[in-house]
Amino acid sequence: MRIVVLKFGGTSVGTIKKIKKVANIIEEYKKKNFKIIVISSAMSGVTNELIKKSRHISNNFSGAEYDVLVSSGEQVACSLIAGRLIHKGFKARSWLSWQIPIFTEGSHKNSRINEIYKNKITSYLREGGIPIITGFQGINRNERVSTIGRGGSDASAIMFAKFFKAERCVIYTDVEGIYTTDPNQLRKAKKIKEISYEEMLEMASLGAKVMQPVSIQDARLNRIDVEVKSSYVKKSGTLITKRSNIINNKIITGISSTHNDAKVTLVGVKDKPGVAASIFKPLSKNLINVDMVVQNISPNGKETDLTFTIKTEDLSKTKKIIKDNKKINFRKVLFERGVSKVSIIGVGMISTPGVTFRMFQALASKKINIKVISTSEIKISVLIDKKNTKKALTILHKEFKLEK
Ligand code: ADP
Ligand code: ASP
Ligand code: MG
Repeated sequence: MRIVVLKFGGTSVGTIKKIKKVANIIEEYKKKNFKIIVISSAMSGVTNELIKKSRHISNNFSGAEYDVLVSSGEQVACSLIAGRLIHKGFKARSWLSWQIPIFTEGSHKNSRINEIYKNKITSYLREGGIPIITGFQGINRNERVSTIGRGGSDASAIMFAKFFKAERCVIYTDVEGIYTTDPNQLRKAKKIKEISYEEMLEMASLGAKVMQPVSIQDARLNRIDVEVKSSYVKKSGTLITKRSNIINNKIITGISSTHNDAKVTLVGVKDKPGVAASIFKPLSKNLINVDMVVQNISPNGKETDLTFTIKTEDLSKTKKIIKDNKKINFRKVLFERGVSKVSIIGVGMISTPGVTFRMFQALASKKINIKVISTSEIKISVLIDKKNTKKALTILHKEFKLEK
């Protein structure tokens, strides 16, 4: 069987008109004799609305009920797509994750797909059916509904491509592919023809919402080529693939940015073993994701300053945890909202000296102050004032000649 997995994001199924367009795209693959597995997200905005409702019910809403609630948006979108295909004369039906089933492991709100039972879908495909499957959701071994993290339909599609050995896995979205930076933020952003899993993973983890980071890990582990393209216009998109398939002479492949970060600085922390662990242990226990961490060298060997970043939505919880933490001593604590992390990403920087300098100099030329720096083999991130994000994207895009 020549199987293709087609995933439609929330923006692609956001209105009735768009859903009709999606049905037309599916029809084109049918005409080419593919066996088609469709994965759909919820209509855009729906998941956010459901999450808002849960917060109005309780600020400590049960994880298991959260999953039942927020996964419901996908059911609606799938039935509408299936309904349209039936209207057009095709054999199609919606499949909810428990009907297949799609099994997940891990905690509620943040599970991962680890097994998909193939029998029912395979028979249905053989009968000429087009299964329209809910992304984002699964069931755990206790038969409770689970969800796999925001943007998780991308991972659903990639896992279907893996289990069904699909010939192609296509992610349809509202932009024409992966761009050098968010095209909705910078008009000069350019579509990338091919990008490696490693670079895509960094771009996604560092703020490029276009693909869910976990889904890229799944694609890389299973060596699944992923095509990202637009459901609005018929144009070639971007191929996410292994590094050896790509010819690229650019030092930097892309730039990502985040928008809702906050910075926490503990001034005058005792400089002795175990202090950092005492600070971060209760944060991790409360599932607060700590991102950039910097510790100053201690001028007198007794005290030091420690800075880290978190998501702004975790700020009040973090404030409370730090205040209540009896295991740490510090002179004062500073909190800063409205910071943003801008990162340049590219495997080319491994073999090119001077990239860090060029980045810092470019930012300095626009008088953008760097608050925190972190690096890995293929990325450099800086924390700056949020109000300077667009300026930083523009100058870095130019400095590394990404518009060319
Ligand atoms: P979907 O609803 O299809 O899942 P998302 O909203 O999750 O779509 O992702 C698409 C959005 O990702 C685009 O509208 C774009 O603004 C944003 N985006 C951020 N960074 C990039 C990038 N480097 N390339 C393309 N899109 C990006
Ligand atoms: N509907 C879910 C979300 O908004 C999953 C997805 O869109 O991929 O996060
Ligand atoms: Mg998405």
